[in-house]
Amino acid sequence: MAYASYEHGGRHRVGRVDGDRLVPLAGLSEIGRHTDVDALRTAQELPAEAVAIDDVHLRPVVPDPAKIVCVGLNYHAHVDETGRQLPTYPVLFTKFASSLIGPDDPVELPPESEQVDYEGELAVVIGRRGRRIGTDAALDHVLGYTVSNDITMRDYQYKTHQWLQGKAWDRSTPLGPYLVTPSEVDLAGAGIRTRLRGEVVQSSTLDRLIFDIPTLVVAVSEFAELVPGDVILTGTPGGVGFRRDPQVFLVPGDEVTVEIDGVGTLTTAVRAESR
Ligand code: ZN
Repeated sequence: MAYASYEHGGRHRVGRVDGDRLVPLAGLSEIGRHTDVDALRTAQELPAEAVAIDDVHLRPVVPDPAKIVCVGLNYHAHVDETGRQLPTYPVLFTKFASSLIGPDDPVELPPESEQVDYEGELAVVIGRRGRRIGTDAALDHVLGYTVSNDITMRDYQYKTHQWLQGKAWDRSTPLGPYLVTPSEVDLAGAGIRTRLRGEVVQSSTLDRLIFDIPTLVVAVSEFAELVPGDVILTGTPGGVGFRRDPQVFLVPGDEVTVEIDGVGTLTTAVRAESR
């Protein structure tokens, strides 16, 4: 199954993807803290209120997560291009709910940054509460997967030892278009690609993650309780613009696409911030 958080006629709803339509679920306004694994599975569908996907505004798959935890260096090729040592424990940082945009929204380049870069990533959405989750149970806590672009202001990321400003800029992180449930997708060997200006700039497979999904669930839940709607961005492959020669940064008029086999395609228009 695949689901979307969307706005239609001034209402926020969750819909199951049915071809090119969304079938709303009764009693759910968004995927988040109230949509655990059972809530999505048991919600009543309202087929009489189905709408064409083209006629709705898709919101971030999880519009208001309690936590967004991101992994810094999780593919060998990306670790290599940064010149860092291979990590033995995941490098984690966070974003805010206000960092997110939906799959229909453009990313607006802020006037303060000259180095806005792309990072295609698989996002994991949590569907079951848990603290100190064990490896064997980790995948039972996953509600589903979606696509993200961890768009990063490199000049702000490297201003200090903390990456926060470069990673948590308001409205910088597209998340979507759909939540795909684990039973629908085989992530083993699935490809992840980022395209910019007609060129594939990042290409890898999800089995190349240094820390796999169960390991990330274990590592995060060791120090913080995971709750439904929490999002984990699993890190980006090699090929980011900052590490290319010559360097590549996003400019107004660009379109950047992240695609993950079986999970979805996320295309984001780039424009200058209107002040
Ligand atoms: Zn990233």
